[in-house]
Amino acid sequence: MINIKSAAEIEAMKAAGRLSAKVLRKTGELVRPGISTLELDRFAENLIRMEGGIPAFLGYNGFPGSICASINNQIVHGIPSQNVILKEGDIISIDTGAIVDGWVGDNAATFAVGTISPESQRLLEVTEASMWAGIEAARPSGHLGDIGHAVQSTAEAAGFGVVREYVGHGVGHVMHEDPNVPNFGHKGRGLKLKAGMVIAIEPMINIGSYQTKGPLADGWTIVTADGSLSAHFERTIAITEAGPVIITAE
Ligand code: MG
Repeated sequence: MINIKSAAEIEAMKAAGRLSAKVLRKTGELVRPGISTLELDRFAENLIRMEGGIPAFLGYNGFPGSICASINNQIVHGIPSQNVILKEGDIISIDTGAIVDGWVGDNAATFAVGTISPESQRLLEVTEASMWAGIEAARPSGHLGDIGHAVQSTAEAAGFGVVREYVGHGVGHVMHEDPNVPNFGHKGRGLKLKAGMVIAIEPMINIGSYQTKGPLADGWTIVTADGSLSAHFERTIAITEAGPVIITAE
């Protein structure tokens, strides 16, 4: 069932969105060679709690962290660890969210660790651009397939693979609501979009094939089947008559 939010509920969700965006930005600022992903996780959890929020990821289906920290060929759901130390040239996808006043915010971005290769840089830029193309297509006159088509065509024009198995989702009092929001699709197809839908748009884009492998033995981490690098950008947005509104904005 899709929960349509009132204008007042969308306003109320912005507190969770604002904190989620702040945590993502400030955790991203700590990304550098030599830091462990567990340190990033601890920082994020402390900031969420200090600002009166609850980490949305911690304990979700048993997930042990407040962030997902996915390095290089890891697509999503990497577990923060003191044994994973970032090194120059890595890329790291950080996914995090906060619960404030009973509403969830969910957002992600991929960060460069020091100086990265031009190919990695292009992956980050194209993945973020594909997310913004998807957001731009999220309008009450359109369909779910418009969003997927916008993401897919942006990523595939660059020669990259669009992950199929993991998709965006509705967001509300819980992190994952209906509908699923695929990053692939056909214009004018699928569910009719409506004002009041709040969804996370989150392309996961691989330099190589779209195919995935996992979860790994840790029960969580999803990696690219061919070992190629993967990036992930996400915002929670509201569909309104005036156009898409970013909920996870500071
Ligand atoms: Mg999400």
